[in-house]
Amino acid sequence: AAQEGFEAEEVEGAIGEAGHGPLPVLAVVGRPNVGKSTLVNRIIGRREAVVEDKPGVTRDRVTYEAEWAGRRFKVVDTGGWEQDVLGIDASVAAQAEYAIEAADAVVFVVDATVGATDTDEAVVKLLRRAGKPVVLCANKVDGQSGEADAAMLWSLGLGEPHPVSALHGRGTGDMLDAVLEALPDAPAQTFGNTVGGPRRVALIGRPNVGKSSLLNKVAGEDRVVVDALAGTTRDPVDELIELGGKVWKFVDTAGIRRRVHLQAGADYYASLRTAAAVEKAEVAVVLIDTSESISVQDQRIITMAVEAGRALVIAYNKWDTLDEERRYYLEREIETELGQIAWAPRVNVSARTGRHMEKLVPAIETALAGWETRVPTGRLNAFLGELVAAHPHPIRGGKQPRILFGTQAGTKPPRFVLFASGFIEHGYRRFVERRLREEFGFEGTPIHISVRVRE
Ligand code: GDP
Ligand code: GDP
Repeated sequence: AAQEGFEAEEVEGAIGEAGHGPLPVLAVVGRPNVGKSTLVNRIIGRREAVVEDKPGVTRDRVTYEAEWAGRRFKVVDTGGWEQDVLGIDASVAAQAEYAIEAADAVVFVVDATVGATDTDEAVVKLLRRAGKPVVLCANKVDGQSGEADAAMLWSLGLGEPHPVSALHGRGTGDMLDAVLEALPDAPAQTFGNTVGGPRRVALIGRPNVGKSSLLNKVAGEDRVVVDALAGTTRDPVDELIELGGKVWKFVDTAGIRRRVHLQAGADYYASLRTAAAVEKAEVAVVLIDTSESISVQDQRIITMAVEAGRALVIAYNKWDTLDEERRYYLEREIETELGQIAWAPRVNVSARTGRHMEKLVPAIETALAGWETRVPTGRLNAFLGELVAAHPHPIRGGKQPRILFGTQAGTKPPRFVLFASGFIEHGYRRFVERRLREEFGFEGTPIHISVRVRE
């Protein structure tokens, strides 16, 4: 009866929000000022603060979700790199290389009014070597007269140049059609791995927290199996590792194994790598270096995993270094800095001594179970009914907004849609989330709650 007043369509629409599998990844690369950020803004179709960002400020956010002709994909923006130290050529190449590695397809942007430069040619070489599908964007073709400039770019040997004005939108539709043709339906790394394959784990954390040490420890000497399917032309990207009697796919490990010694853009690369790994994974294991204070960077990395909707485990590494005093302060820091993710299972490990390595797998399994939890609609509504009766929403402007009905629209992570008679305040939403967790578990998983208000 609580459903009365809602169009069936509306409920279905809500359920349609489910299905949040890994999306294919598109990288947009090219020299500075060719219009990459402008194009990314166009592709994602909203004004995220891509172009507004100040130069030299490292951005955390490097991937954006986009949709064209009903298909969703991720766009990796490479506009945030600092160019000064390495020199333009080297840094453009390095940036493009990392972005290409992380992508399923690439849009290579060239400024058609300038024509192909040596730097462009250098990127073309990288693109050839990587062997990923490329769509050539001849940008700044603002009008008919620019078409001839675009045609000159056939000389790059990358096939048809798509004349585009990222600024005005001209030609972007045709280019996006070509992008959809180039993009696989799902990220390459998950092919053949959708049903019953190994679970995908991203091992992430800021530099020097011990990622490669931990990877080496869990992989051991000879238990590493190179995954030929997922290997790129140069590096095996993912590794299959047997742990706790099961095979797990540690994604994007090439970035962990290869030490990056770039000064300029190292942070940027680190966040790009993290974003790419998180994108491909089902569960993120975030390493924290307990010998140092928990930093803003640690929090950003956790936020990336949470915002991507991945299951989450926190591994407090270098436990062997702790004395009693540090340990005391660490617990306080965890409480104050990481209180919002108190739902994530925690393991205190040492990649050096091997301490508690055996606890890693149970923690990962707990998080994945939480991530996949589905609450039947009947149980959910019985719970919501009791909750609302016992703790009604505060009265606002003489009215009392009520949650009338709810449904779980999806899993991985759990998504709920609540239907309400008025605006539900943020604090009350948080309260509902807390109670949902108390009632149904959801250990190790973010949960999404959206509220639809009946007009
Ligand atoms: P990025 O460094 O490659 O990310 O380049 P931006 O997106 O920041 O663009 C560099 C400059 O080129 C900006 O001033 C943009 O307004 C301009 N620009 C980008 N796309 C176009 C276009 O299609 N036509 C014209 N005329 N200018 C453009
Ligand atoms: P990554 O940059 O996250 O891959 O970190 P590394 O695995 O390269 O580790 C950075 C440094 O921390 C190295 O000197 C490691 O030997 C050290 N380290 C890693 N794990 C531990 C640990 O559990 N205990 C101690 N004491 N040192 C560690």
